[in-house]
Amino acid sequence: MIDTHVHLDDPAFDEDREEVIQRIQDQKMDFVVNIGSDLPSSIRGVDLARDYDFIYAAIGVHPHEAKTYGPEVEEKLRALAQEKKVVALGEIGLDYFYDYSPREVQREVFQKQLDLAHDLGLPIVIHSREATKETFDIIAAHLDKYPEDKINIHCFSGSVEVMEAYVKMGCFIALGGTVTFKNAKVPKEVAKKVPLDHLLLETDCPYLTPEPKRGKRNEPVNVFLVADYIANLRGMSLDELLKVTDQNARHFYGIKA
Ligand SMILES: [Zn+2]
Repeated sequence: MIDTHVHLDDPAFDEDREEVIQRIQDQKMDFVVNIGSDLPSSIRGVDLARDYDFIYAAIGVHPHEAKTYGPEVEEKLRALAQEKKVVALGEIGLDYFYDYSPREVQREVFQKQLDLAHDLGLPIVIHSREATKETFDIIAAHLDKYPEDKINIHCFSGSVEVMEAYVKMGCFIALGGTVTFKNAKVPKEVAKKVPLDHLLLETDCPYLTPEPKRGKRNEPVNVFLVADYIANLRGMSLDELLKVTDQNARHFYGIKA
């Protein structure tokens, strides 16, 4: 079992991080990937990856923090990327729901980091909220530079049609707790229809806790709840689902068994 998207460096885990990490081990999960939100969190993620075998790191600047991006941050990301256990650039993208950074800045920083990922030869973890079309267009415009299976649309929240268009481009679709929410009709449809060989599972912890734990802080072991829910939706066993999604995660991040 693999959680492809966690934020263990988040202050929400400051009180009991070691216990949360211990539970990953107790559940015999294969590995988790800690995703960067800005430079400091990327550094914290790399530190965690150094401390624990089963933690890997993605580094990058989230669209919320796009205004913090500049040549110095980029240089530091380049240096961090030399660490062995840095397996992706992310999360990067556009967030027009919160608009914490001006949209122009978000677009520019997104494209700069796409170029950076290309330079570094790293796969990309995408965050997109209320910016479906622009995110899609920017990725499509950069696609010639990437192997087609090196883009992951994290916490995918679009329609079945948009999912299909991404899959056609070769992207992975990552699904988490939102699929389990009672009123989430479209995510459930997407979870049923996404081709299995393009599906990744994630928690995005500490956020987006799946049912029936919704309302509490999320943590990596809850990816089991997501997997179980999606296996049920698709009428398959948990083992059958995990066999493929774990293989997808290893393939995407380039982590061998
Ligand atoms: Zn995230």
